[in-house]
Amino acid sequence: MAHENEIEDLEEASRREGWPSAWPAAVAGDSRAAGGVDVRSRALARRALGFALDSAVSREQAAPLLVQLAGADTRTLKLARAWIVRAASPGPIAAAAIGTLSLALRQVGTDGAVRLVVLGRPGAGKGTQCIDLARRLGIPRFSTGELLREVFTQQTCFGAKVQAHMNRGSLVPDRLVLRILAGRLAESGVTGRGFLLDGFPRTVEQAEKLDTLIAPKAIDAVIELAVRAETVIERLRLRARDDDTEATVARRLAEYDRNTVPVLAWYAARTPLLRVDGDRPADWVAMELRQRVDAIRT
Ligand code: AMP
Repeated sequence: MAHENEIEDLEEASRREGWPSAWPAAVAGDSRAAGGVDVRSRALARRALGFALDSAVSREQAAPLLVQLAGADTRTLKLARAWIVRAASPGPIAAAAIGTLSLALRQVGTDGAVRLVVLGRPGAGKGTQCIDLARRLGIPRFSTGELLREVFTQQTCFGAKVQAHMNRGSLVPDRLVLRILAGRLAESGVTGRGFLLDGFPRTVEQAEKLDTLIAPKAIDAVIELAVRAETVIERLRLRARDDDTEATVARRLAEYDRNTVPVLAWYAARTPLLRVDGDRPADWVAMELRQRVDAIRT
């Protein structure tokens, strides 16, 4: 059968990521099980795939059932859809399930906003890809690296502190970064069309603060642009930024492993994490990003 590989892939992913096969009992109130794992959205992803496989159930019939199961909760529906995007190699079953969940979301009347986080080692191509993606989605992009560089060009005492951290290649303290980002998010209206965060959160503390800052809204997906250390070193040799010297690059890579890799683990239990291979030419990466992100917009 043509869909066998896709079904196997989905089964594999659902086992790996612990999507419950039976409707979880403890979901009436808080859908987060121990450890912050959202069980309801994973169970819903499984249901949506079940409907997609069942030729006797049309999309129009399935969508209101999914709305009902989700308790008409936009976040649960969005998360379920993103779990499927995350798990599946592109195929007709996943596409059908994603389509049904999108229909369900339209029936609930979602705000249509997309809230994304993009992380990656220095030199992963984050800046270029984020500009393209944000433009395509019509949402503002906030790069904490750029915001911080703006601060230090203002030549204040605060700016000098920020610059010292950046030139060393170490992270700027959480409280300073949060102050700047919170201001920008508030100005742009966090609840609007959504946003793309480029290079934030870089520590678990930042991730926790972000969660609180945007509640009751939530991040729809986290994108990791994955590149090998050799690629980073090669690419950064070709740039000419103050913090691109050999010693600072080494420190920034170490900071990423120490502080930001745990952020990816922190999100893995809560928010769908899309891992994109950033070692390929920029156009290919952009194409894959667009395809995957298109699937999680309503
Ligand atoms: P980037 O432009 O994203 O490569 O960031 C450049 C530098 O800005 C980093 O090496 C850090 O010193 C600082 N920086 C950017 N974003 C953050 C963040 N979220 N938390 C702490 N420091 C940051």
